[in-house]
Amino acid sequence: MQVYGLMGYPLGHSFSKQYFTQKFQTEHITNAQFELYPLPNITELPNLLLQTPQLKGLAVTIPYKEAIMPYLTHINEAAQQIGAVNCITINKGILTGHNTDVIGFEQSLQPLLQPHHQKALVLGTGGAAKAVQYVLQKLGIEYSIVSRTKGEGKHGITYSDVNQTILQQHLLIINCTPLGMHPNVTTLPAIPYEYLTPQHFLYDLVYQPATTAFLQQGMLKNTLVKNGYEMLAIQAEANWQIWNSI
Ligand code: NAP
Repeated sequence: MQVYGLMGYPLGHSFSKQYFTQKFQTEHITNAQFELYPLPNITELPNLLLQTPQLKGLAVTIPYKEAIMPYLTHINEAAQQIGAVNCITINKGILTGHNTDVIGFEQSLQPLLQPHHQKALVLGTGGAAKAVQYVLQKLGIEYSIVSRTKGEGKHGITYSDVNQTILQQHLLIINCTPLGMHPNVTTLPAIPYEYLTPQHFLYDLVYQPATTAFLQQGMLKNTLVKNGYEMLAIQAEANWQIWNSI
């Protein structure tokens, strides 16, 4: 039996557990199981590896996407540049880190992009925002980062700076904050939604609920909208492929 799992803390409802349990059933994969590993402290990882020698791969979530890095033997280039790992392979004691948020975001965004989506606003400055920035750079899309605190790098502005002119210049707006995520479904980033136009594209990394308060504001102004579900599913499938490539 090969074991895969998700490590993070705390782990409440898990998309990954549901996704892989269903995948193993529908694809008749009988030699694999997916487990949840809520680790109160990252220092418990070596013990987990010792106790679970069948473990072949782990998905990594909050709060360990950065803290995991010193435990890894190799880190692939994208994960290194972003400074965050959300997928690791385990092979004879060798741990290799990857970032598949990048794959999920790029593959779900790219088919929807239109020629006028040349500048983006990235809302939030966490690990997910860094993966998003990596993809935008790769696609040649200029971006500004919006933070609650000033001075987040050379592209940084705060929410109070976001006015009609800024929104006119940035037609792609990506929510990389947890605002709107279940159960806080009425919360949304503080930007002046009244200046949105049908040229805008609102992408929300939040996937639950399917229509967040942020996306609802876009729909009121006939913008293009996309939630984070496809990104999540592509990322999970990319994890599976990486785990099975060793
Ligand atoms: P994170 O590390 O907690 O960072 C989120 C960022 O959002 C923070 O750095 C902060 O930036 C901002 N923020 C936090 N609380 C806020 C608040 N109350 N008001 C305004 N801004 C706030 O989280 P993350 O790992 O980057 O993930 C962000 C979201 O993306 C989560 O909801 C996560 O579930 C989702 N996500 C989805 C996928 C997917 O596949 N769909 C993948 C990864 C993450 P400032 O302090 O600079 O304002």
